Amino acid sequence: MTQSLSLEPRSAVGNPSVATPDLFGDAIPFLKPWLGEEEAEAARQVILSGWICQGPKVAEFERLVASRIGVRHGVATNSCTSALHLTLRLNGIQEGDEVVLPTWTCMATANAIHQCGARPVFGDIDSRTYNLDPMSAEAAITPATKAIILVHQIGLPGDIDAFRALAARRNLILIEDGACSFGATYRGKAIGSHGSPTCFSFHPRKMITTAEGGFIATDDAELAEKARILRSTGASISDLERHRAMGALVQQYEDFGYNYRMTDMQAAIGLVQLRKLEAMLNARAAQAKFYDDSFQDSPDIEPPHVPSDRTHCFSSYLVRLRRGIDVNAVARFVMHRGVPVRMGIQPLHKEPFYAERWKGYSFPESEAAAAETLFLPIFPGLNQSAQETIVKVLRDAVAQESSASKG
Ligand SMILES: *Cc1c(COP(=O)(O)O)cnc(C)c1O
Repeated sequence: MTQSLSLEPRSAVGNPSVATPDLFGDAIPFLKPWLGEEEAEAARQVILSGWICQGPKVAEFERLVASRIGVRHGVATNSCTSALHLTLRLNGIQEGDEVVLPTWTCMATANAIHQCGARPVFGDIDSRTYNLDPMSAEAAITPATKAIILVHQIGLPGDIDAFRALAARRNLILIEDGACSFGATYRGKAIGSHGSPTCFSFHPRKMITTAEGGFIATDDAELAEKARILRSTGASISDLERHRAMGALVQQYEDFGYNYRMTDMQAAIGLVQLRKLEAMLNARAAQAKFYDDSFQDSPDIEPPHVPSDRTHCFSSYLVRLRRGIDVNAVARFVMHRGVPVRMGIQPLHKEPFYAERWKGYSFPESEAAAAETLFLPIFPGLNQSAQETIVKVLRDAVAQESSASKG
């Protein structure tokens, strides 16, 4: 049976349509994907059809996601990391090249660069949007730089026009990492539709989910076609085409490739999720507004800043605490009272893997953001009474730490 897309919570905190067993219990979860009978039924139908690997559902998912974004081509993959890797490789990024990216991002962005044999070079972020700062990115450019990855971090688009201008002026490739920004807009148009290849993630932490999954959105037919070949062992024809030709077609290999395929079971789940996207965007926007309003009068808790030319899809909600307040102590206090929070993103240049190479470098805005920010729970199904609890507990914790920091 089809299920309504209502977001009415089933209990004090909870998602309306979660299949049992519920691993999340009664406590407020940090996040919880909105999955239910419809997704289960869609996956079941694919299983019973006998074609469970990449096939017609993936093709349909690609068409509909590309159309929602407003691009001509979409290539589904098994993760955003693999989507970024394919996009970098197909843009010629290889050993000896450098790629500029923000240090305040997920390790996965940098991993895709390493997978090409190239070197990630970090830039700092803008203190208000937490996105790569164009001036810092420009300062990181060397003769070896081939590309810039603009990450639209935690759901807020970066300054795409500034980066398009920079890339054109310095003759660099621009790639967008929109992993957590599916559904966000910049200057009235969806992320992914601004002219540079853009990669998305469908991990449960992102806007819609296929369990694991990724996507390349592009207007470039050649890039899309080559990405389809490389994601599937480098074969010139797909498994489905070969199956339909009953073995009469033989694939050829013009290059080595990967197994970066999404399955039809995942795509079927994604098609249901896609129908829920507008409801999810609305739910997250309303939850963000509730938090914003609640912290409006607080001198110690700063809600996210959203420039007027873009929309935030709030895959995450990040607050900034007044400098001097011990974020770790606040996090311990609220977690002890059953409110799950997470520390803000920690800059990559401080990770053990990079510490030696980046010793002596400082990215002050990223370091400050790491020391002063906290993620609060936000997901469709989080209800207002849970949000009231979260706000109250956070305000109590901050009041206590604030007086400690002044005293
Ligand atoms: C989650 C995330 C990724 C990685 O996505 P996967 O699908 O897990 O590979 C890459 N970049 C950013 C900014 C992310 O948030």
